[in-house]
Amino acid sequence: MITLAHVTVEYPDATPLQDVSLTLGSSTTAIVGPSGSGKSTLLRIIGGMQVPTSGAVSIDDVAVVTASWRSAGDPRVSLIHQDYRLVPFLTVEQNLLLAAEMRRVRRTSADVTSVLGKVALPASMRGRLPATLSGGQQQRVAIARSLIAGTSVILADEPTGALDVKNTERVTDILVDLGRQHGLAIVVATHDQSVAQKLDHRFELAEGRLVQLA
Ligand code: ADP
Ligand code: MG
Repeated sequence: MITLAHVTVEYPDATPLQDVSLTLGSSTTAIVGPSGSGKSTLLRIIGGMQVPTSGAVSIDDVAVVTASWRSAGDPRVSLIHQDYRLVPFLTVEQNLLLAAEMRRVRRTSADVTSVLGKVALPASMRGRLPATLSGGQQQRVAIARSLIAGTSVILADEPTGALDVKNTERVTDILVDLGRQHGLAIVVATHDQSVAQKLDHRFELAEGRLVQLA
């Protein structure tokens, strides 16, 4: 369970989060809102990549670690992006094993095969470089990379923003499956209604406030 208590974020020219309180279970949640409304800020706050101006964030009643120059965020949380952000000169397998190493967990080729299976990619893809994969395949590798070290929360920032309709559906279905079948908490920032509609809960961010939608 993710809890935000009275979270405010003030930048010099914007206050995208104003006294936001929120509880999310291990299910799938959409955050919708126009560009500039604070979706990316909210995801960075949940993941401990940024500290709020005031307020607190916890996961299963344990405070999210304080972001610092040494921290890529809370070890329980993974963030995926619209542009995938795979390391271009490493193979799929090397990308996954590097992520495990960065989180200080030991993982093998068998683990790589197992997480690729969870995102419906064949083990034969392990030797490919990111540039030889389609956008949808790269995003599925990015999801596998977040799974390999055993994350319990996946934050996805416009994960389908660069994908066509078919791949959008595929990536969304995988995220939904991870939430419903594998018990992860999935939070997706999106302005695609077809994505938001498939998730269990929907919130809209506007003028600093987070409002639950029906
Ligand atoms: P969204 O992801 O919904 O487009 P963002 O969280 O990226 O929204 O941005 C919300 C607002 O906060 C925007 O006005 C943006 O310019 C501002 N902002 C975001 N990050 C920073 C930052 N690190 N420093 C100053 N202003 C920022
Ligand atoms: Mg954004």
